[in-house]
Amino acid sequence: MSVTMETASGVDVLVAGGAAAGLCAAVAARRAGASVRLVEAAPRAFRGGNTRHARNFRIAHDGPAPWVPDTYGEDEFLADLLRVTEGDTDQALARLLIHASTGIAPWLADNGVRLQPLDSGVLPYSRRTVFLLGGGKAMTNALYATAAALGVTVSYGSELVGLRIGPDACAAEIAQDGTTEHVTAKTVVVATGGDQADPEALRAHFGEAAERIVVRGTPYATGRGLRLLHDAGASPMGETGRGHLVAVDARGPHVDGGIVTRITGIPYGIVVDRTGRRLADERADTRRTHYAQWGPRIAACPGQIAYLILDQEGLRRTAPTALPPVTAPTLAELARRLGIDPVALEATLGEFNEAALARQPATRPIRVTPFAAWPLLPGVTFTHVGIAVDGAMRVVMRDGSPAARVYAAGSIMAANVLRRGYLAGLGVTLAAVSGRIAGEKAARHAAD
Ligand SMILES: Cc1cc2nc3c(=O)[nH]c(=O)nc-3n(C[C@H](O)[C@H](O)[C@H](O)COP(=O)(O)OP(=O)(O)OC[C@H]3O[C@@H](n4cnc5c(N)ncnc54)[C@H](O)[C@@H]3O)c2cc1C
Repeated sequence: MSVTMETASGVDVLVAGGAAAGLCAAVAARRAGASVRLVEAAPRAFRGGNTRHARNFRIAHDGPAPWVPDTYGEDEFLADLLRVTEGDTDQALARLLIHASTGIAPWLADNGVRLQPLDSGVLPYSRRTVFLLGGGKAMTNALYATAAALGVTVSYGSELVGLRIGPDACAAEIAQDGTTEHVTAKTVVVATGGDQADPEALRAHFGEAAERIVVRGTPYATGRGLRLLHDAGASPMGETGRGHLVAVDARGPHVDGGIVTRITGIPYGIVVDRTGRRLADERADTRRTHYAQWGPRIAACPGQIAYLILDQEGLRRTAPTALPPVTAPTLAELARRLGIDPVALEATLGEFNEAALARQPATRPIRVTPFAAWPLLPGVTFTHVGIAVDGAMRVVMRDGSPAARVYAAGSIMAANVLRRGYLAGLGVTLAAVSGRIAGEKAARHAAD
């Protein structure tokens, strides 16, 4: 039985969630002169949410910078967003956030985040995205160090579990080690991420397929902050049932596998379900983002499992993965090791090879032994639900009015601009930009 010990304390700005959005909010609010408390649900070793797994973020820029070549204008950024969302976005808010992206790289650098210099030559050319030196883990470590140096009070293993919004202050409940602390804050920034790690939320989004969906990122994205805001009267945003689902190695961990369990070699092989049936044309989309089309296809398979089958030629072209593929000298043996119907697999591959031989050199047959395979499950990055915000990142209530004293930043507000599809590097940009805005506005509001 948990013990409830009640204490009360006060602060100008309370930030819930200690990843990109919450850290940027805390640093910005503290720099604006507010006293700031940041509560992070995860223990210290697992702080930093999904941001720990990120590699790069997208910025608009009018000319070369130390981290990006050429130009990538605000209009081009917006056009890319409109394309992937099929126009289903809040354009005014999108423009505001895209404009703010122009200043976010130097701001992060000024706050200790190290960015990959262009001339290092180790990463793919990208004029749209800046790569984080040391990845998202180094980014969050740097922002935690800056927050601490600025005097932000940080508590780990501390979950926001209650929120009452009052006209003059907010009353928050923070659970830690079976105790509940009551905190009074002049303003609150909720930056607690999405709901993709909550099994019930996943069932609501994806039905029975949810049972086998792997959570690619933090298990602490339980949607608690989202539900607290709903209960406090906030206006929901986005659509249940949509999410970013990718193909991941079925042998990886059920949570927090990150990017190394993602399987990207699909255009070099064939993907079959356990009955040996091919799911779709593997070569129809070979863009770098093709893997995001495969998550939903795998989720629709019997048992939500599929298999990428390659030969040595295909294997040679695939990116390295955390776990090596299953290999076998013959297709029948491979089928046996994977638990696929061997006769059906032979027939499917035979048909593919016949068609490939007819279409050469556009498509190569798969026949250079030993054969290799990865078992695949759908892995969720995020869902497309959240909370409505205005241009100051203030939470919008169901009657359309802005919430007194409550702001939202990061994944929890991403659905305002991203209700479908995805653009590489957009997640961290939205988190950093909205976090910075929310922190500055919350600090100013607290000083009124
Ligand atoms: C494997 C993977 C790779 C990715 N790669 C990229 C990439 O390269 N580029 C990119 O732009 N995006 C990437 N993303 C998406 C990106 O990581 C997220 O969009 C972004 O990090 C969201 O930041 P956030 O601060 O809003 O939320 P999160 O990073 O999800 O963090 C939420 C935080 O809130 C805490 N929390 C949750 N509930 C509570 C509560 N009730 N009280 C207190 N704390 C709470 C959690 O512990 C966590 O620290 C990737 C995601 C994954 C999973």
